[in-house]
Amino acid sequence: NAPAPVTVIGLGPMGRTMAGVFLDRGHAVTVWNRTPSRAADLVERGAHLAANAEEALAASELVVLSLTDYDAMYALLGDVDPAALKGRVLVNLTSDTPDKAREAATWAAKRGATQLTGGVLTPPSGIGDPASTTLYSGPRDVFDAHRATLEVLSGADHRGEDPGLAALLYQLNMVMFWTALSGYWQALALAGAHGLTAADIRPLAVDALNLGQFVEFYTPRVDAGDHGGDVDRLSMAVASTEHVLHTAADAGLDTTVPEAVARIFRRAAEAGHAADSTSVLVEVLKRPAA
Ligand code: NDP
Repeated sequence: NAPAPVTVIGLGPMGRTMAGVFLDRGHAVTVWNRTPSRAADLVERGAHLAANAEEALAASELVVLSLTDYDAMYALLGDVDPAALKGRVLVNLTSDTPDKAREAATWAAKRGATQLTGGVLTPPSGIGDPASTTLYSGPRDVFDAHRATLEVLSGADHRGEDPGLAALLYQLNMVMFWTALSGYWQALALAGAHGLTAADIRPLAVDALNLGQFVEFYTPRVDAGDHGGDVDRLSMAVASTEHVLHTAADAGLDTTVPEAVARIFRRAAEAGHAADSTSVLVEVLKRPAA
């Protein structure tokens, strides 16, 4: 089968890389972006820069969207003639909330288009590598029909029909990513305040961020509702997170992150969980802070 034509809308670092990988693999690629100058390199490599959104949509059944958020999609496609969307498969690799993804799927369906929601779990450097993963949700038959083209970008893992699911799984990934990475930036600031470089603490950081053993340990216990304090006790964590906070304050750092962490542990202890495992935070975090 000849490679299918593809349209890529959104030429940030991710969309540009995706369009380039499609070109490398012999696809006819049409691109469209709010700032057309970002297409220059791709046009040199053989991409067609559409004159407007309608032309971009007309060029390919498969339309990849790689935008900052779903509002950007409405800004670009909200006013196009609905006929231009009819029959299109919008592969929305834009990250946003699960609700926004579901709303957009309904918006597309009203115009005779189908959305496949995607959560890209790799930076642009991993695009084109089958070992990278993108999580998809939406109609399985539509995914199957376009799977070969989607696999040009990365491994393609269809997780279910709900258009919000891929967005949810992406957000689950990102809450862990950003929170853990904030801890890393905080550690580097603290190290720097004490004359230590990123290179100095590299092995310590790699070990500290390797949290897989905790995931394995807590998975069955949390699913069983077992927050017993046999291995770790929240009272210990309250003291430990206060030490982290005071070490940061003593070094004159911004304490936003350690303050927030200390606060949620303290709140759990005040709610009567001092003798439970720190995993009881899963329950405490299910309710908004007073
Ligand atoms: P960018 O935020 O750099 O992408 C911006 C794209 O969105 C550009 O094409 C930009 O147009 C367009 N855009 C933003 N706002 C508007 C608007 N109001 N109207 C029209 N167009 C708009 O993101 P990336 O390219 O880095 O990523 C794209 C998506 O992929 C994001 O949702 C991101 O979360 C996700 N992702 C990114 C990863 C990464 O490492 N970069 C990793 C995994 C997922 P213009 O060029 O005119 O500014």
